[in-house]
Amino acid sequence: MDTIKYLLSEDQMPTAWYNIQADLPKPVPPVLHPGTHQPITPQDLEPLFPAALIEQEVSRDRDIEIPEEVQQIYRQWRPTPLYRARRLEQVLDTPAKIYYKYEGVSPSGSHKPNTAVPQAYYNKMAGVKRLTTETGAGQWGSSLAFAGSLFGLEVEVYMVKVSYEQKPYRRALMESYGARAIASPSSQTEAGRQILQANPDSTGSLGIAIGEAVEVAAQDENTKYALGSVLNHVLLHQTVIGLETLAQLEMAGDYPDIIVGCTGGGSNFAGIAFPFIGAQLRGDRPVRCIAVEPAACPTLTKGQYAYDFGDTAHLTPLVKMHTLGSTFVPQGFHAGGLRYHGMAPLLSHLLQLGHIEPTAYPQLSCFAAGVTFARTEGILPAPEANHAVKGAIDAALHCKQAGESKTILFNLCGHGHFDMQAYIDYQAGKLRDLEYSSEEVAMALAGLPVVP
Ligand SMILES: *Cc1c(COP(=O)(O)O)cnc(C)c1O
Repeated sequence: MDTIKYLLSEDQMPTAWYNIQADLPKPVPPVLHPGTHQPITPQDLEPLFPAALIEQEVSRDRDIEIPEEVQQIYRQWRPTPLYRARRLEQVLDTPAKIYYKYEGVSPSGSHKPNTAVPQAYYNKMAGVKRLTTETGAGQWGSSLAFAGSLFGLEVEVYMVKVSYEQKPYRRALMESYGARAIASPSSQTEAGRQILQANPDSTGSLGIAIGEAVEVAAQDENTKYALGSVLNHVLLHQTVIGLETLAQLEMAGDYPDIIVGCTGGGSNFAGIAFPFIGAQLRGDRPVRCIAVEPAACPTLTKGQYAYDFGDTAHLTPLVKMHTLGSTFVPQGFHAGGLRYHGMAPLLSHLLQLGHIEPTAYPQLSCFAAGVTFARTEGILPAPEANHAVKGAIDAALHCKQAGESKTILFNLCGHGHFDMQAYIDYQAGKLRDLEYSSEEVAMALAGLPVVP
């Protein structure tokens, strides 16, 4: 394990984030300007992001220092606990060891503050007054609202309408932190008005909400945009999860054979897996990394690896990623945080390079796994996190069949305390496994931009 390098403070907190771009055998394809199809320049991104984050987006430095002020805030809940799931192991009767890293201890209950705090910090340092963003289930919106409140920034959140209606408690949390929540599509932006004109009953999507938030930020020089997943700098900030886990497992004298995480835009999965994949890229032990997505939004398993827009209004640059097409509107299944049409370019690239195994599960089997987890380990996972629990349980059962005592690590990226309606519906037998409509996907994919 001597090629694994991490920088820790005395209280076992990483002092630098890990940038996997330093170790890639082949660089990630460039982000393209939607008009010229030429690689975009930092200047193109300046209306949306502060310079420090644009630098991190393209940096090839391996260790990127975590500002002292950000470390101080992280210390409120970090390092997060790493648990051995002994009672779950017993119930499964598996020879495998199961560890989980619990990100639900953050103030907003998920991994999202790991990036919300540094994003708010760098914007504050750059003199920004207001941040706009989108949110699906409300996890990201409440995390950015929390971070904005720490730095005195106004926060405006475009919330996917289906979640706005299904999850009033997350909205109340955002508003308690001082943010403004707007149901998307809204009539406040050109992007929103266009969607409403074509479909007044639109339940919204992350792609639509991103278009609205980007439009508002681009039109005001004191306003910038913040994204909760997908981008390189977001994945970078999340590596605190994996770096802490490396140190914690070393204390336990263990190392994972299999890492499991759920994937919406890819940030919590990257956060736990990248430090281990990086170690492997530098010649250390190989590790199987299993990315679990919902069958109703199967970006990695059924999407295409192609240049596409990040939003439905086509205001963003083109990124090469696994995508279901920017006009894809997934049905209103309960893991709202996993409903994005695209996937992080870094994760898509690593899938192409063979470092990630994607798999998709329908939601009922994931809720069943989450309930088994709650009854053994006591923590009720977020519906998104249930996908990781299901992936880890399946890996452990496979070990049982094969008689292998592997070490499995998964990321329990958030608790489900704001998602009780989903559990009420599940217990009442009201949830269905939503059919993945291959026709709709084919239609959305037919609209992919043509990039020579
Ligand atoms: C946002 C969110 C996700 C999905 O986003 P990723 O970028 O893929 O991590 C998953 N789980 C929880 C709890 C979330 O809040």
